[in-house]
Amino acid sequence: MNHSGSHPRYQAMQTVSARKPLRVDPPRDENGNQMKISDYFGSATFNLKEMKQKLPNDIYKRFILATHSGKKLDLEVANALAHAMKEWALENGVTHYCHWFQPQTGTTAEKHDTFLTLDSTGSALERFSGAQLIQSEPDASSFPSGGMRTTFEARGYAAWDPTSPIFIAEIGSSRTLCIPSVFISYHGDALDEKTGVLRSNEALSESACKLLRLIGDEARSVTATLGPEQEYFLIDRAFYTLRPDLIMSGRTLVGAHPPKGQQLEDHYFGSIPPRVLAFMGEAETELFKLGVPTKTRHNEVAPMQFETAPIFEEANVAIDHNHLTMEVLKRIARKHDFELLLHEKPFKGVNGSGKHNNWSMSVTSGSAEVEGINLLDPGKTPHQNLRFLLFLMATLKGVHKHAGLLRASIASSGNDHRLGANEAPPAIISVFLGNMLDNMLNEIEKDTHKDLNYAEAVIRLGVSRLPTVMKDNTDRNRTSPFAFTGNKFEFRAVGASASCSLPVTLLNCAVSDGIDAIAEDLAQKLKTAKSTEEAIFAVVKDAIRETKAVRFEGNGYSEEWVREAAKRGLPHLKTTPEALHQIVSAESVKLLTGLKVFSEDEIRSRFHVRIEIYNKKVLIEGETMQTMVETQILPAAFQYSTIIAEGVAAAKSAGLQAPHAEVLTRLYQTLGSAQGELKRLERLISQIHALGSEEEKAAKIAAELKPAMESLRTHCDQLETMVADDHWPLPKYREMLFLS
Ligand code: ADP
Ligand code: MG
Repeated sequence: MNHSGSHPRYQAMQTVSARKPLRVDPPRDENGNQMKISDYFGSATFNLKEMKQKLPNDIYKRFILATHSGKKLDLEVANALAHAMKEWALENGVTHYCHWFQPQTGTTAEKHDTFLTLDSTGSALERFSGAQLIQSEPDASSFPSGGMRTTFEARGYAAWDPTSPIFIAEIGSSRTLCIPSVFISYHGDALDEKTGVLRSNEALSESACKLLRLIGDEARSVTATLGPEQEYFLIDRAFYTLRPDLIMSGRTLVGAHPPKGQQLEDHYFGSIPPRVLAFMGEAETELFKLGVPTKTRHNEVAPMQFETAPIFEEANVAIDHNHLTMEVLKRIARKHDFELLLHEKPFKGVNGSGKHNNWSMSVTSGSAEVEGINLLDPGKTPHQNLRFLLFLMATLKGVHKHAGLLRASIASSGNDHRLGANEAPPAIISVFLGNMLDNMLNEIEKDTHKDLNYAEAVIRLGVSRLPTVMKDNTDRNRTSPFAFTGNKFEFRAVGASASCSLPVTLLNCAVSDGIDAIAEDLAQKLKTAKSTEEAIFAVVKDAIRETKAVRFEGNGYSEEWVREAAKRGLPHLKTTPEALHQIVSAESVKLLTGLKVFSEDEIRSRFHVRIEIYNKKVLIEGETMQTMVETQILPAAFQYSTIIAEGVAAAKSAGLQAPHAEVLTRLYQTLGSAQGELKRLERLISQIHALGSEEEKAAKIAAELKPAMESLRTHCDQLETMVADDHWPLPKYREMLFLS
């Protein structure tokens, strides 16, 4: 180990230093000319253009009608679609198809089948029926269901979601037709994450259309829109493979601070390293083929941290596209000898990674005046301004009333390291509106314009100027978990590795509830008010008073805010187990069952699945740490202390003062402490395994196991700074973060 040249860590450093950016050829047409992105965008999807070409006109129209009205496809349409799809797939070298769905693990799952069929004479042919397209039956027993069904009725169905485009996944030489699907149990319970998104979007649509009708806007359907900004780290594979903690848990469980961290802030928006750029280019090309509208890429705050963001889309499609983005990024990173870390906190003391969910509501079908409009766009005319204020206040009402539930929607063991760690939004859900909008609401509340007529008052308020003013100034509070950014909200507390599904589902539900409350209030006030404008003003004013507590413009990282939030009665749920209980609270159950988004069983199942995942993840971390300390860290420190001890003994026998005697004493002390903490960790892990219920386990993990790991880590990190560099087995922070 102490022969520098053959030390695995030093070899890794040499490997990394010698790496060159991978040459990536851009897509070319038949004549060898480089194609524009728009030439090949969506080429690996069976999109509407493709459908229109391949399907009889009548079938195509019936398909569009069915998807727009949310009706079931009839078998004739499904058969024709399946056939066209198969032909298209075969032309593109596809051999298998799969229903691609989101189990509650937070990732995606797929089961592949070939198109192969044997006819009555035993000859082979490719066939794909409407029934196969609409539904398939993968065994559900290995996916977490939170106890929703017992194994003997472990049947689950994957059913196509026709609103999300079918695509070809090309991995190596294998090509698979992937059919985005929901995954439901034999009894119709949602076993997956997508079903909740679709149901909550329907609830939101219904509520929003009702409110719009009250103010004379004719809308038939509304959808949530989403643009998730995805942060991630890249670490060279040569280092990654030497870190059992990164391999097993995606984060470093030990590791001392380098003297240079992100203090210099020289990485943010700096120039992207060439190797990374080559990776990004290739990943983006893949994503463009898959129809993912990737738009932005840049360096993030921490060294080796980056971000990618798409053009926003309907939330359901944007969520599928974010899953694809995470998968493609991870896969292509490996090709470039990087490991892509999506963990919320891969490195202690270095900024973690989030996934800002830019969210709004948009009218997908309605009269010419409203079709396509963004309901959180402040608009130009007084009518549009007032509509904006209604939907703004509805959002505030929903977030205020269901702050605990929204906190639960982003709860995970990884995100616990990030929330409230003075770098990410706190675990307290509050809303930031920005100076101008905040003042505007204060003016409305105080009735500043009561002498004016309503149209005049709206103009004076300056709602129309909001988007430009907000774009121009950097009035953007980075410390807020939920911030208004001109014409959308940014739910920033979502973790980088998380699926957007549950956060979006629960946000849709919370806002749907807020809209319903506003609509009810408005319907009442319209009965007695002299004009619609007067009624709207009155409703908005009431909502402003009611939601004051959730508005916070100050520094979300500060201690004062924690105290202030407590005074305001806002929930502060620090750990995942605490937060998750909000999913099953009486208030949440009433909301979710009332909107018919989840049944009580489905709600409880979401709670149980998440508690179990939390327990599993932290226990894996604990056990990985135990092994690393036992088999790597302590042995390195023992070896090194033996060398020092020999030196001390030699000095003593020569009758000399041993200057390293002091080093030895400190080493022994730290080793002793580390060993003591290791024993405590081992005891705790076996105690937790012995506990009966997952909830008990979670409570003990949060209260005892995590602090024990932190304390053991402190001693290990101290050892790292004491043991000779060529005796240290694990790649250090400075190497992983500053060499590439
Ligand atoms: P920034 O927030 O840095 O100003 P942008 O305004 O361009 O950047 O948006 C960031 C993300 O928000 C992008 O993914 C963008 O597509 C998305 N976004 C913009 N408008 C909406 C909207 N109406 N609904 C949902 N997402 C949106
Ligand atoms: Mg942003």
